[in-house]
This record gives sequence, structure tokens and C-alpha cells, in this order.
Amino acid sequence: MLPHTEDTGEPVMRGEKTHEIPFTDLLTWLFGNETYDHNKTIYADALNPERSMTTLEVETKVKSLIGGLRSIGVQPGDAVCIHSFNDIMYPILFLAIIGCGAAFVGTNPGYTAFELEHHFKISGTKFIFVQPSLSKNVNEAAQATSIPRDRIFAFDTGGQQFNEQDELRSFKELLEHDKEDWLKFNDEHSAKTTLMGLFASSGTTGLPKVIALSHYAWVAGSVILREPLERPYEVKRLMCLPSFHGFAAPLTIGVPLRLGQTTYIMPRFDLEVFANSSAMYGINETAVAPPVLQAFLKSPPKTQNKLKTIKRIWCGGAPLNVKLQTEARSCFAEDSEIVNIWGMTEIGITVGMKYDDIDRTGAASKLLANTEARIVNDFGANVTHTGEQGEVQIRTPQCCSGYWGNSEATEELILRNRWVRTGDVAYFKDGKLYIMDRKKEMIKVRGWQVAPAELEAILVSHPRIKDAAVIGIKVGTEDDEHEVPRAYVVPIEVGGITEAEVKDFILSKLSKYKALDGGVYFVDTIPKSPAGKILKKIIRAEWLSKEEQ
Ligand code: ATP
Ligand code: MG
Repeated sequence: MLPHTEDTGEPVMRGEKTHEIPFTDLLTWLFGNETYDHNKTIYADALNPERSMTTLEVETKVKSLIGGLRSIGVQPGDAVCIHSFNDIMYPILFLAIIGCGAAFVGTNPGYTAFELEHHFKISGTKFIFVQPSLSKNVNEAAQATSIPRDRIFAFDTGGQQFNEQDELRSFKELLEHDKEDWLKFNDEHSAKTTLMGLFASSGTTGLPKVIALSHYAWVAGSVILREPLERPYEVKRLMCLPSFHGFAAPLTIGVPLRLGQTTYIMPRFDLEVFANSSAMYGINETAVAPPVLQAFLKSPPKTQNKLKTIKRIWCGGAPLNVKLQTEARSCFAEDSEIVNIWGMTEIGITVGMKYDDIDRTGAASKLLANTEARIVNDFGANVTHTGEQGEVQIRTPQCCSGYWGNSEATEELILRNRWVRTGDVAYFKDGKLYIMDRKKEMIKVRGWQVAPAELEAILVSHPRIKDAAVIGIKVGTEDDEHEVPRAYVVPIEVGGITEAEVKDFILSKLSKYKALDGGVYFVDTIPKSPAGKILKKIIRAEWLSKEEQ
């Protein structure tokens, strides 16, 4: 654990601009942009474009549903969960929950009953809307957490994958209600203290955490992201990322309404559906995680040809190596750009973005407006020399209010003067911020810090290596124990590359202290989250502990 830093130094880097963030409730903000025609289609079902809604229709449905939710007893401050794949009704329910002054609880449709139980417990979930095909795990978890059956509703929206029958009460009934207005406010205190969402972190390093975001944090995110999102052309966005997550929710739900940008929504990622939708609707923008870019790159030319209208791809959630960032551009429009965005749920969808200028590693060369960064070393001091590494800490109005119901963890996260610990190691050089890796993952080789992400990026750039993960392992005697990097490598062909070749390749590119002295192990696959985050907790628990036996 880092010692708490004294708040002495200046930020090392700031976003270029500072915008004023209005103190308003989220729905007033999202529906309040009069500069575009509210008869415009905002959300459309990528599988069935006849299911679409204009801003005016969205507003009407949200108001009816607010009435419906109030009629079943949803009150300000209640935690209301949507457990579902994406659908065009997801934004409607999301906005209606928030409009009641309640908090949206996001859960991953892939969660097991055990994970759901944990989530319901720490978020204090009171009501659940579940896609019928996912109700088994929800029922089990709800029983374990004593959520009464009459507070669980089938989220049977009419989308292709949402029609299975279940004995639960239908959500459709609640849409039939008379319209009611949303909870409105326009003062600083309400904006900053009214909870709008309890978002789950990805659970890469342990069980997911529940992160509390206020109306103000989301309004701030929308203000800050306006410039990077406004385009000189009519935007047609295709979203396949899961709406429960802090990366996708703003882009799928909030941004379309505030900026008047038509957004096609897929239930989840499917290569063929994505490519066909892209061609059919002339999609020009999307947001993905690195594995999706990899899937595009590996797809046949006839699939790639359907992606040629896409000009702008936001990629985030996990390190994006430069090889993939550069090569994947060939799948899209000639003048396309792939923007590597870095952020974390605790500080908003994104705080930094790196356009595809060629740097070997790192993200976030540019901070967004209203965003400040500083680098803090192991002694808690601000780093002032360029190139020196430390934990990057961020100050942004997008910041969360903390981990829900966990003041101890919140105190570790949010420091004095609202600086937030990211747990990521970075350095600052030539006006750019380079993200190295998670602090927890950094390998300490006799006092030198080695970032596994850097080694992984080099390894996958080898023409005979398909994928790789690097962790630190302890070697040496008790008095001389230290860490060295070990690589797990997936070769393109079994036996296609030797351990010596892999080690030499690293040495040909990097300093000697980064050598793979912990060995090279050949494996079939690397365990990863859907966002492409390497699940090192699994490698350690399953592979490393076996080798030690
Ligand atoms: P948990 O906190 O539950 O272990 P998580 O940190 O993976 O999970 P998220 O908030 O989804 O949860 O992800 C944020 C983290 O993802 C960042 O702290 C960073 O380590 C990593 N990350 C996100 N985008 C990028 C990027 N573009 N490049 C490198 N790392 C990234
Ligand atoms: Mg995290």
C-alpha cells in the first residue's frame, strides 16, 4: 500500500480546456439539448431496425415508466438492478430508474449466482429487472439475499433474444402507466450527492467493486466528452459493448441523447452481426475492447469489406498494443483512426485518449478537458522529473463518490483535494502521459521496475506468437529473493517457436534487466476477460500454484 501523499506538488499534466459543469439532474441535461431535432432516431435495434426510437419517443416512454416504477414502490435512493444483455429498452429502463431518483445497478449478464449474490448484497439491490433467459441465477441470488419475488420483473422487451416466457411479472405492464415527470434539481449539493448509478468494476484483480456515481459525475463526463465526440459528419454509431459497464453505458445511453447521435444497439458482440449491421446502416463510429479489434483483423476480407464506412473506433478497457492498433486500421475506412482510451470506472469512462501516433507502449497521451494528472512515487512524493515512474493519480469532476458502503476502501481511493489513486503506473514525458501497467502487476527486478504490458506488447509483435502474458515470479534464496519476468506464450503453430528464440527476441528489443529469466511456458490460450484484460489472478492461482507443487 502506498503511503498517503501530501498534497504539495502541482499536477504534471492538465487537459487543455476547462468547461463549466452545470449543477442539474441527469435527465434534464440529457433531454435538454434543443440544437437538434428531437424527432430524430436515437436508439435503433441493430437486429431489427424497425424497433427504433426518436428522442421524443424516448422521453415519453421514460416518463410512463417512471410512473410504472413509482407504482411498484421504487423510491428515491433505492438500488434497482438491470440484469440483461443490451436492448433498445435498456436505456429506457436505465433513465426511468434514475428519473425516480433511484440508482441503476449494473450487473454483468454473465455473472454466476454467486457473483450476483455478492453484487446484490454490496449494492443493497431492492428491485431486479431480468432478461427472462437469465432468470435462473437471479432467482437463486435473490433468494439468498432475501429479495422478495414480487420485486423481480421480467425484462421482456420484445427484442429477438428477450421473449422467452417466465412466470415473473412483465415489465411491459409498467410502460402502460400515465406519464410522470422525473425528479428535478439544479443545485450543487443535490447534483453531487444524488446517486445515479452503482457500477461494477471489471473484477480483474479480485471480486468486482461497486462504484457510486452521482448525477454530477455523469453530467461532467458528458460535458468533457462533447468535443472528442462531436464530428463534422452525421454520426451513426454501433454499440456492442455491455451497457452495465462504465465504459459502454455513457456511449450507448447518454451521449446519443445529449448529442443527437443515432446509435444502433446490438445485444452483444457477434462478428457477423456487427459486420452486416455496419454495412447495412453505414456505420461510421464504434467503441470496442482490444479482443474485438483482434477479431476484425483475423476476419476474412469479405467481412472486413463491410467495415469500410467506419471512420472512428474508440478502443479501451485493456492495454492496446501498437501492433494491433496499427494493423487493425486496414479493416476500416482509409482515413480511419483508432483511439486508445484509458480510464477506469472510479473516474469515469475515460480520462485520457491516445490517437494513433506511433509510440511503442502506453495510452493517454492527451488528457481530456477538466482533467489533471500527477505521478506519485513509492514514498508518496510528487514526481517532477520527466520519465520517472509512479502511480498516476487523477483529479476530475467525473470522479465517483466512492465504493458503495465501504468507507475504508473509499479513503484509500480518494485522497485529499479529490485526487484519486488509479493503481496504474505511468510516467510523463514530452507532454504525454504513458500508462505502463497496474501497480500490482509491476515486476521488481533487483530494484528495476518492469511493466508486463510492455513485454506482452513486444511478444505479440513477433510473427510466430499469437498471444502472451507476463507475470513476475519470485526466485533466489531467502536473503536474496527477487522477482523476474516469466512469459506464457501462445505460438501461432504448436512448436513454431522455441524458448530461446522468445528470450532472444525480448533481449533484441529491450534492456537486459527485462530478460525473461523466469522462463517461457507455451500454452494454448491466455485467460482473459471479455474486455481483453489478462486475468493474472487465474494464471497465478491455476498455473503458477500447480508448477510450485
Ligand atoms: P477491478 O478494479 O475490479 O480489479 P478493473 O480495474 O479491470 O477491475 P475497470 O474499471 O473496468 O476495472 O478497468 C480499469 C482498468 O483497466 C485501469 O485501471 C487500467 O489498468 C485498465 N485499462 C483500461 N483502459 C486501458 C488502456 N487503454 N490501456 C491500458 N490499460 C487500460
Ligand atoms: Mg480497478
